[in-house]
Amino acid sequence: MTRSLLNKRHFLKALGAGSLVAPWPLVAGAAPLRRVLVVGGGMAGATVAKYLRLWSNRSIEVTLVEPSAQYTSNIMSNLVLTGQYSPSILNYGWNSLTRNHGVVRIAGTVVGVEPGGSLGPWKVTLTTASGTQVRYCERVVLAPGVQFDAVPSTANAAVAAPILHAWQAGPQTTQLRDFLAAMPPTGTFVMTIPKAPYRCPPGPYERACVVADYLKRNKPGAQVIVLDANPDIMAEKENFAHAFGTMYASNLSYRAGRMLRSVQATTGQPDGAVTVDVVVRDASGQDIVMGTEVYAAQVLNVIPRHRAGAIVQTLGLADATGFAPVDGRSFESTMPGRAGIHVIGDASKTTLPKAGHVGNQGAKICADAIVRAFAGQTPYATPTANSACFSPLSNTVASWLTAVYQYQQDPGTGAWRYVATDQVSGTVGATEAASASAEQFSKMSTWYRSLMNETFT
Ligand SMILES: Cc1cc2nc3c(=O)[nH]c(=O)nc-3n(C[C@H](O)[C@H](O)[C@H](O)COP(=O)(O)OP(=O)(O)OC[C@H]3O[C@@H](n4cnc5c(N)ncnc54)[C@H](O)[C@@H]3O)c2cc1C
Repeated sequence: MTRSLLNKRHFLKALGAGSLVAPWPLVAGAAPLRRVLVVGGGMAGATVAKYLRLWSNRSIEVTLVEPSAQYTSNIMSNLVLTGQYSPSILNYGWNSLTRNHGVVRIAGTVVGVEPGGSLGPWKVTLTTASGTQVRYCERVVLAPGVQFDAVPSTANAAVAAPILHAWQAGPQTTQLRDFLAAMPPTGTFVMTIPKAPYRCPPGPYERACVVADYLKRNKPGAQVIVLDANPDIMAEKENFAHAFGTMYASNLSYRAGRMLRSVQATTGQPDGAVTVDVVVRDASGQDIVMGTEVYAAQVLNVIPRHRAGAIVQTLGLADATGFAPVDGRSFESTMPGRAGIHVIGDASKTTLPKAGHVGNQGAKICADAIVRAFAGQTPYATPTANSACFSPLSNTVASWLTAVYQYQQDPGTGAWRYVATDQVSGTVGATEAASASAEQFSKMSTWYRSLMNETFT
């Protein structure tokens, strides 16, 4: 007996046991339906689709709905913004998931999920180039990423769109690259960082470093100003603070506690000004406004606050934070009446950071929980996720941050959450590289390629 047959028989046996408690109607004598529809083919969605097929020995039917013709990776996009890498290094597709794992791909956008009556627990409505389609499934996994809040503007309402965030890689990345390249030699690049939680905690500081490095080499009279709504650097603090204070002491100015109030800009132009509230956080965590400041820029990069992608909002799966609360063992929504709908990746609300590597890990925890659910089992009680993230600090050196996240109960409050543990000291928190190096810059490419191949093939 081959190993795959053995695995499949075990799995089907488990499914048989599970059918006693399966939460949806089954036709007498027919094989139970095991259909999962995945919404969004990014870091989290592609991974969950692949692993549902792998770990069910292809017995779960997986449909992946994604509107884009190709996936554009945010990871590494800061080095496309500086012109170091071609945009093509960010491109990935879904053909390998179909070829290697039998994932069914539909080019479309999911616009609704509702109870499916006798045809299945969930009815999913999607729009495609050829019209509206409907699919029925036993479980839905939402992985739509994030959407961005409108930029507050004092100039005119139409200004919101052309102020570039480039926080969703794609056309904005190359547009900001072109603005940077065309910036006057003594110009100022002003970027704003939103309050956490936001996508990729070290990402804005990484961007500040590589832009400062680019300017140092290409426009030595130019400056970078970083306006952070948070009270301090939010990730990899030692390495970024060191880079700001040494490598970029002459051309980068970092200002914490600067909350974006408004943007003054002309539609379609790279330049303008931002007004920020200067805030300090009191003992209870409230921000106290101490004054306002105005910064003029020749290139503006405003990263607005973000929230879970539109479909999560439409389905009422987000709470007041804008993200979807989930059970950390399965990523199943904890909103009333939504059992069987899972939310993974940046759209979910957990104590895990919003990052691609972590999205890949959470997707595997979700896939495992769904395979178990189809077998009538409860999710694994204490899953573990890990994360590694390399940050380029210039065009030649990079640092890294890594953590292992253990799902555990807080002895004080009783709440279950993921807790990062420093693998060197054993204390709570992530581990960062001792310093930046060229060797780590080279390893960054290997890490990137491995993560993307692991996700998309
Ligand atoms: C500049 C930058 C650098 C970064 N660097 C790193 C890094 O070094 N390491 C790291 O781990 N992370 C990094 N990240 C973060 C990482 O890119 C994100 O955390 C990750 O992409 C989130 O994955 P996701 O699957 O949740 O969302 P996404 O990857 O954004 O995918 C969401 C997908 O869902 C699709 N979609 C949305 N709505 C629908 C719908 N209704 N129907 C169908 N499809 C839909 C979208 O088209 C999209 O393809 C970085 C981010 C940025 C901005």
